[in-house]
Amino acid sequence: MQHIDDETLALLALGEDVLDDAARAHLGTCPDCATEVDGLRSVVDDARAGGPDLVAPGPEVWDRIHAELGLGASSTTPTGGVPTGASDTTTVASDLATVTPLAGRRRRTWLPVAAAACLALVVGVAGGVWWERRELTPAETTVATADLAPLPGWDDASGEARVEETADGRRQVVVSLDAPAPDGTFREVWLLAEDVSGLVSLGVLEGSEGRFDLPAGLDLAAFPVVDVSEEHFDGDPAHSGDSVVRGPLDV
Ligand SMILES: [Zn+2]
Repeated sequence: MQHIDDETLALLALGEDVLDDAARAHLGTCPDCATEVDGLRSVVDDARAGGPDLVAPGPEVWDRIHAELGLGASSTTPTGGVPTGASDTTTVASDLATVTPLAGRRRRTWLPVAAAACLALVVGVAGGVWWERRELTPAETTVATADLAPLPGWDDASGEARVEETADGRRQVVVSLDAPAPDGTFREVWLLAEDVSGLVSLGVLEGSEGRFDLPAGLDLAAFPVVDVSEEHFDGDPAHSGDSVVRGPLDV
C-alpha cells in the first residue's frame, strides 16, 4: 500500500480518528509515516502548549489550501478570526470535532522540515477546514416562539420569546419586553408549568432584551410558559407573584 497522505497525517496529529484499518496497519509498520506523524504531533503539542511564536499563514498558503480543497482558483483570505497566534491555533485545532479525511491526495515528498513549515500545514489544513465548516455550520434555529401578553396591572406591557437551538443541541430562550420599569425593581424570567404548579428561574432580564441558557435536560413540554415578573430587592428568591407578561411556547 502507498504511504498515508500528508493531510491525513496532519489530521491524525491533531487527534482526529481518520485512519481506516488498512492505514492503521500501515502506520504500525511504516517508519516513514510514523516519523512524520510524530513530528507533526510534537508541533501540535507545542502549539497547544502555547509554545513557539506562530504567525498567520500568508496569502500563498491560503491559495494552496484553496486549491487543495478544490474551492476554485481564487481564494478569499478570511478576514477576522484568522489564526494569528498560539491560542487561536489551539482553538481552531480543538474545534475540529469531526472531520472527514481528505482522500485521494497525491503523495508529496515529505522531508524533515522545519517546525514552522510543519505548523503551516497543520494550521493550513485546520484553518481551511475551519473556514469551510464556518460557512457550512447552520446558525441556530428557532424551535418555539411565544407572544407574551400583559397581566393585570401591566396593561401596556408586551413581549416576545423564542427558543433557539444550536446544531449541537444547546438551547437558549431570547426574551424581549416592552414595559415600564419602576425604580427599585428588576425583572426576572421564568418558565412555568402549564398549571403554574412548578417553575424554573432563568435569570434576571436587564434592559428590554435578554438571552438565557436553558439547562440541559430541561423538558420544555413540562415548563412551556414564559413568564417575566417584577421583583423587588427584598432578598426573597421566589417569584414575587407580580407577573408583567406571560405566554405559552408553541412546543
Ligand atoms: Zn508509509
